[in-house]
Formats: sequence, structure tokens, C-alpha cells
Amino acid sequence: MNSDVWTAFFKKKESYIPYQNGNPFTTTPKKIIEINFNIFQRSNGTGNFQNTVADKARLLVILGWLNDKYSAFPPSDPVYPPIQELPQFDDQIEFSLGPTGQERIFFYQGDNLFNSLDPYGLLPSTVASVDPNRMNQLNLYFTGAYNNNAFWASMPTFNISEDMFVMAPGQNNPLPSGDFVLSGGIAHELGHTLGLYHTYLGGGANAQCDVPDEYLSDIFGLPEPGTCPSIYTWEPSSWVSPNDRITNNIMSGNKDTEYESPMQAGQMHRSLALKATRKYVSEEVFNPDYPVLLNNNFPLPFLSNWVFDFNIKLYTDLIIPAGVTLTVKCEIVMPYKGKKSSVKEEN
Ligand SMILES: [Zn+2]
Repeated sequence: MNSDVWTAFFKKKESYIPYQNGNPFTTTPKKIIEINFNIFQRSNGTGNFQNTVADKARLLVILGWLNDKYSAFPPSDPVYPPIQELPQFDDQIEFSLGPTGQERIFFYQGDNLFNSLDPYGLLPSTVASVDPNRMNQLNLYFTGAYNNNAFWASMPTFNISEDMFVMAPGQNNPLPSGDFVLSGGIAHELGHTLGLYHTYLGGGANAQCDVPDEYLSDIFGLPEPGTCPSIYTWEPSSWVSPNDRITNNIMSGNKDTEYESPMQAGQMHRSLALKATRKYVSEEVFNPDYPVLLNNNFPLPFLSNWVFDFNIKLYTDLIIPAGVTLTVKCEIVMPYKGKKSSVKEEN
């Protein structure tokens, strides 16, 4: 991937910030990401959430809370001009367990499963052996294994076939009083699956303080490295002081896990265009009203010859005006609603 348009536009997180400047490319439909809750209990059915009306209701409340974190919360620390926050702080990303009443909450029994920390082998192979279709969603694995209260997740690569996961061990006896914290932990891990790094140093996905393409100037300010990295601490509240480097960012490790910046939204939507997580976006997500038009309105100097040498998923139509040539050296993927008419040539 070294075409001019890749370097100048498609690889940049800034190109994918939703609702920025009304640019058609970034006027994205809300991306619904299909997930599964896989609950692993002991062989005798104890441990972890239970297959009861009450516990399923708790899990749906947890889902609602984690979706709120992608659509509702302002930053606790000042942002730096000229940053424009997303309208209502809505990232245009939502996680779904499926239709009401048929939510994909699955229960499994086995001491080896309950005690597992293996999101690459035992857990996915068990899920797939019950129903291979369950690998078509992004899987969250809840087990009882002790892991020092740490969750983790996979980060997406350009290998689209990669199975993404969130690992949530430590669910020996999850009490309702811990559900809100659990929703924050899951929200943080889902951020990783969308390509987000920590805002602090540590934990295997370090803040990108000196990587210009990934640097978050709308969190840390300019010039680089600004206030990067933030400080990793659960307490105190991120709202106590505006300049203590303790923030409520979803990737901050603070108990106030709730905010994503516009550039982080750009990183997530970039993953949903280019990386493995995109295959979990609902096939229903398609917006015919805001096509990508390769004309003067595209935020690049006018080009009569385009080369796409990258594998991209679009959630809109792609319109190639008369007199413009598009050479596709890789692949363009669209949801089924766009498949028949998605690439249009104007003559
Ligand atoms: Zn993390």
C-alpha cells in the first residue's frame, strides 16, 4: 500500500472522523457491530452469570451502559482548539447482541472452560463446535479464571480473516454491584478491538506519543508530545483536576471510562474500513444518501486517475464521475445492500 491516495487520505485517522465538515466520506451511517456474550460456567453449572431471566437482564443492562460510553460522554479534561467534538459525543458506533428476545448470550459448562484463559484455542473451538455461525460475530469470553482482574482483547490487523475477541476472566461470582465496572472494562476492551491504544504507557498497547500518524492531538495537544502519556490510575476521579493527566478517556485505565475523542473515533472507523473488525459490522449498515464521489468534492486535489491499492470496505456507494478512471489493485467490499449498484460509473 503506497499509492498517493493511500498516503494522503485513506491511511489517515483524520479521514474517518464522523461528521467532520460534512465530507461525504465521513458522513458515516452508525456502524452496528455484532457481538456474542459467551458465558463459561463450571461443569456443575455454578460460577459466572447464570442462564436466568434476572442475569440475562443484567447482561443487557451492561450492554446498554457500554453503548452509552460510545455515544454520550464529554471529556473530563480540556481539549485543545481547534478541536470540534462530535455532535452529542456520539462516535456512530454501537454494539449489538442481536434482536430483542433473541440476544446472543450463550452458556457453556465445563471446569476446563470455566478455568480457561485461552481465547485462541479452547474457547473459540468450543464455541465453534456448538455452532460455527457463532464465529461470524465478535466473541466476548467470560470465564472464572483468576487473572489479577485483567481483561484483554485482540487488536485488528489488515488480515481480515483474523478472529477478534474480548477476554473477560474473573467472573467467579459476579455481583450486581460490579456490573457497572464490568461494563467499563468491556467497553475499554472493545476499544482495543477497534484499534484504540491506551492513553498511558503499559498494558501492551502503549500510548502513541511519538507516532505522528497515531498521535491524538485532540487529547494531548500540540506540539507533540503535548501531555502524552496520561497517568494510569484507577483513582481518583478524572474530574478532580483538568490538568493532572488523569482523564476519563475510555483507554485511560481510570474508573471513569467513558470518553473517546474525535480522532479516536477516526481510528475506530478506519479499522471498520480497513481491518479485521469490519467483518462484524451488520450487513444492514449501508447509507445510499452520501456516496463517495471521486470528484472535486473529495478532500484531495482533483485526480483523473485513482489507484486503490488497499482493501477497503465502504458503507456507501462509490461514484466514479465521467472522465475519471479508478484502478482497483486490491478489493472493495460493500454490505449486501450496496453490492448490486455500489460502484457507479457516470458517462
Ligand atoms: Zn487496555
